[in-house]
Amino acid sequence: MRIHLVNPSDVSFGVAVITPRWLYVLASATPREYGAPALIDETLEPFDLSTVSSGDVVGIGIHTANAHRGYQIGRLVRAKGAYVVFGGIHSTLFPDEAREHGAAHAVVKGDGDLVWGTVIAHCAAGRPQELYEGGQLAGRSFYGGRWELLPKDAYMFASVQTVRGCPKHCSFCSVWRTDGQQPRMRSADDVVEEIRDLRSRGFRFVVLADDNFYPVALNDLAMARRRSDPAALHELEGIRRERFELMERLADLPDDMVFMTQITMEAAEDTAFLDAMRKAHIKGALVGVESVTAEGLKAIYKDFNLAGDALVERLRIFRQHGVHVLGSFIFGLPTDTAETFDVTAAVAQAADVTFAQFVLLQPFPGTVDFERWERSQVDPPTIDNIPITRHWLLPESRRPKIYMPHPSLKPEEIRAYTQQVWDRFYSLPAIWKRARCVRSLKGRLAFMLISKLYRQMYANTGIATDSARHARANRMARWIARPCRRLFVSPVRA
Ligand code: SF4
Repeated sequence: MRIHLVNPSDVSFGVAVITPRWLYVLASATPREYGAPALIDETLEPFDLSTVSSGDVVGIGIHTANAHRGYQIGRLVRAKGAYVVFGGIHSTLFPDEAREHGAAHAVVKGDGDLVWGTVIAHCAAGRPQELYEGGQLAGRSFYGGRWELLPKDAYMFASVQTVRGCPKHCSFCSVWRTDGQQPRMRSADDVVEEIRDLRSRGFRFVVLADDNFYPVALNDLAMARRRSDPAALHELEGIRRERFELMERLADLPDDMVFMTQITMEAAEDTAFLDAMRKAHIKGALVGVESVTAEGLKAIYKDFNLAGDALVERLRIFRQHGVHVLGSFIFGLPTDTAETFDVTAAVAQAADVTFAQFVLLQPFPGTVDFERWERSQVDPPTIDNIPITRHWLLPESRRPKIYMPHPSLKPEEIRAYTQQVWDRFYSLPAIWKRARCVRSLKGRLAFMLISKLYRQMYANTGIATDSARHARANRMARWIARPCRRLFVSPVRA
């Protein structure tokens, strides 16, 4: 009986940017008596189904965007006599769907780290349960990854998690509902040990794949003080202290290491935190800017962000403290107008963000937005007999790009304007100008290459409507990805 763990994807680039951490964590959770699991990341190459035999266990982890491909794999391997087990955020939200569409014998809800061994044992005995509750584990129980199973020369950045959960409640995000609002932190010892292991395998660039690396803002502390709530204040101060302790440990790692993470914009008010990040080699952060207008932020319950000129100033603070920003912007909010696209592009340029992504507002299950939208669809339109409120059951090529009705813009306008903003931000002159953040010519050329790759992987393959453009972007990304990877790794250390 062999164990296979599959990260499904419709597109494969040969080389991927970030290691899919869950594959390596579940490999750690696989009892050694079953041998090393086969780890299949379809963002590298499609799954070779001939490797699956009757009685094998195939674990498939899905989020909403890759659920369709995951279900396809589930059906195919069940037909070969394998046990099919689904996990991941989407299965946690829709366990019955994984059985109906993905031919699942079993579904794991929540964190799989501790329950996975039991699932395999039940499959080995021929008696898998329909449902396993993995729950939300304490940070101290998280497993590290079995990184010795990494394929050679496949990934640019490693990934390590330091905290799960986010105390915020943005309406377009499911993290606070699926991972909880209580930050669950790993011990600094576990984090550092895992990073040292990855460093010894040649990884200099590591993504701290946290839901929110900055879970306690100064404003949260001030509010707890105002409420005269000593217990809450004590807890928040403890979380903050642990974050600083972790960063002190990261600061002791070799100077050529580079970490990237995700934080909220409020961190710009907390310059002590930013300075600690810089010392800890955390040189880049994805910051969810989302909207450049106050009305847009209010619409998505993110009014703790700033808008307009204040937003530009705040984003610049990150750079002033040595942290590069990947700004994430959302288009298609009900408050957006035709002008919003130009204004957003101008803000992204003016605010000195090093990279940017411009995503379309999508009703992802598990979010407040989705529930509101689903309720509003009394008799939802269908595509190939699938109601659009279950859009992820359609193949990628049949899915609409825009779902939410907009008061003033047509779906095609939103899509086309968004594509134009990507084109503008990633034009060669604009990238070259931003490349000045790197000193050497070689570094600047590397910056240009990675900017183009980022755009090919995330804009052209996601927003493009015609299949020819999609295929072209995919080929281009495969072509750029391999030389890009060499820029980020160093020789393996014994
Ligand atoms: S978008 Fe970010 S800040 Fe908002 S709930 Fe999700 S993880 Fe937290």
